[in-house]
Order: sequence, then C-alpha cells, then structure tokens
Amino acid sequence: MARQTIVFDDRLFDYIRSVSLRQPDVLARLRDETQRFPQANMLLTPEQGQFLGLLVEMMDARRIIEIGTFTGYSALWMALALPEDGRLICCDIDEKSTAVARRFWAEAGVAGKIDLRMALALDTLESLITAGGGTSAFDLVFIDADKSNYLAYYEKALVLLRPGGLIAIDNVLWGGEVADPTIRDDKTVAVLRDFNARLHADSRVSLSLVPIGDGLTLARKRA
Ligand code: CA
Repeated sequence: MARQTIVFDDRLFDYIRSVSLRQPDVLARLRDETQRFPQANMLLTPEQGQFLGLLVEMMDARRIIEIGTFTGYSALWMALALPEDGRLICCDIDEKSTAVARRFWAEAGVAGKIDLRMALALDTLESLITAGGGTSAFDLVFIDADKSNYLAYYEKALVLLRPGGLIAIDNVLWGGEVADPTIRDDKTVAVLRDFNARLHADSRVSLSLVPIGDGLTLARKRA
C-alpha cells in the first residue's frame, strides 16, 4: 500500500490522460493558440481544467469568480460546465491575452455567461463586496494570478462566498520549490509557503491540497 501519492512517469501519465481526459476540440485549439504567448507555461494542465469543470457541476455552481484569466482556458472549462443562467466574473488586466479569451468564448457559445472585468482584481472584488451586494453570493472562486496577492484574494473570496462555497487556488506547489529547503531567498516561494501554512491553520475552511498540475488547494467555507 502506498503511504503517499504515487509518483507517475510519462507512461502512467499518458495512461491517465487516455482514460480520463475529455478535452473538447475548442479547448485544445485554445491551448495551441496560447503557445505563442511567452507566458504559455502559465496555462493549467488539461486535467486541471477538466477537474474545475467537474467541481462546477458537482457544486451545481451558478455564480463564479475567476482571478487571473490570461487566454481564458480555465474560464472556458468552467463556463462550459455552467448552466445557461450561470455567470462567471473574470478578473484580468491584460488586453492582448484576454482578446484571445473573448474570441474563443464566443466561438464556444459561452460568451453570454462570462463578465470580463478589466481592472485590478482587488478593486473588482472590493466593488463586488461593497457595491454589488456580492457578500455570500458566490459558489466558487478560482485564484490563479499574481502570487504576492494570494492572501488578499483569499480573504476577499471568503467574504464573497456563500457558506459551503469553494475557493480553488492554483500553483500552491510551485514546481515543488515550496518544499525545497535549499530555496531560501525566493520571494514567490516565501509567499506561497506562508500562504499554504496559513490555510492549514485556518479553521474557517475545510481543506485539501490536491496534487494535480502545479498543486491545487481546495478550501471550502464553513458555515
Ligand atoms: Ca496557474
């Protein structure tokens, strides 16, 4: 019996994909198109995207916030899983990458479910809290943006979520560097270590760090 998550080699990884991944063609083409961006390595893995979509379905989510949209890959997975009356608010500031996002959302027929807010995410979240009546109104918040603001995004997400709502946070393992004791002076690693430790001690949420992609923490707001 394994005492920890199995380490998978390429063969096992290919097998996992072959028996579980169902990436629609439009998402595969969006991945291809994203490769021309220098930050293409920021893309979620297809497995993570599908996992997010499954979470949306399992929660019967209707209202979602995404912090950090890039070319709209994760948003498209979630939007496809949303019912027709579902709404996804996307936060980003980059015109070039979100132009790609808009094009693919339209092609996939989900543009009407997505409300892209081109502003600093903290400002958008604050406006949802104060002006939008957004407190306890959201089912799911996906955080995948600048790591230095992760804790601030998380705190605002907790305000915006209904009890039982879920926060999903990407890149919490940072390629494994968070656990590497020889890395002592990297700012992002320090931020993520602190973030992970704080969530571990946070009794306001139920918690699981899912070792998928670059590490995806799920934190469910307790009643
Ligand atoms: Ca990411």
